[in-house]
Amino acid sequence: MVGLSVFLSPYKPFTGASKSWDPATQATWPASTATLIEGERDAVLVDGLMTLAEGDELLAWIRQSGKRLTAVYVTHAHADHFFGLEPVLTAFPDADLVTHASVAPVAAGQVSTGALALWNSYFPGQISEHPAVPAALPTDDLLLEGQSLKTVLVGQSDVELSTVVHVPWLDAVVAGDVAYNRVHMWLAGSDPKTRAAWIDSLDAIEALRPVTVISGHKDPDAPDDDATRILDESRQYIRDFDAVVATGDPAPQIVAKMVAKYPAFGNPYTLTYAADSQRP
Ligand SMILES: [Zn+2]
Repeated sequence: MVGLSVFLSPYKPFTGASKSWDPATQATWPASTATLIEGERDAVLVDGLMTLAEGDELLAWIRQSGKRLTAVYVTHAHADHFFGLEPVLTAFPDADLVTHASVAPVAAGQVSTGALALWNSYFPGQISEHPAVPAALPTDDLLLEGQSLKTVLVGQSDVELSTVVHVPWLDAVVAGDVAYNRVHMWLAGSDPKTRAAWIDSLDAIEALRPVTVISGHKDPDAPDDDATRILDESRQYIRDFDAVVATGDPAPQIVAKMVAKYPAFGNPYTLTYAADSQRP
């Protein structure tokens, strides 16, 4: 097919701990996506998951498309969006691994010995020993069979330098971690200023007038990839978290109030970790 396909990797157990998290409950990492933008013969992958097992599954899925992978684009410099790429890059050695020029130096910093040790402590034996680092794109354009995919630096999300990929002919935006789809948002370490900036980034996606938004983290039961719903829900979630934090409630109450508002959202560990970060 020509168009856009999404690979969804489910919630994965990891050795997370947070002050208010009940250690009797298994912590999980958010369900994550990788997106294949397909032309007639070639394809471009956006983001590449985290563990080697995920990378193997992602590769098998890409092979089913029958397309030749020409590039892999990483939306932002977080391990869970590119550490899993080793099997894919080994199978497609001619595919360029790239990111936005502003993100490249930050991505390079994610593969330090210390950072790799930390990720290995979360996912023992499941992480590549030498994750490939994306190179800086010389322009904001990424080509697929002569058509231009636009990479857009929107700014703050759960990391300061976040980009998205706009696919104009599909009215789609592959949003990385700027928009979340029915998963608790990674607001750990956020403050009122970065939360407001994150909402601005969601507005920047809306300004591209997409019909479809593919979120980097998507619940397997999410109903669709509808841009209006996803952008509205993501903005409202940030506003609600901001308001609940502003009440001065302790972390367990922040969690309880957000769960009451968002009972169906996946990965409660993310919320607990975010709440604890607001009450150190
Ligand atoms: Zn992420």
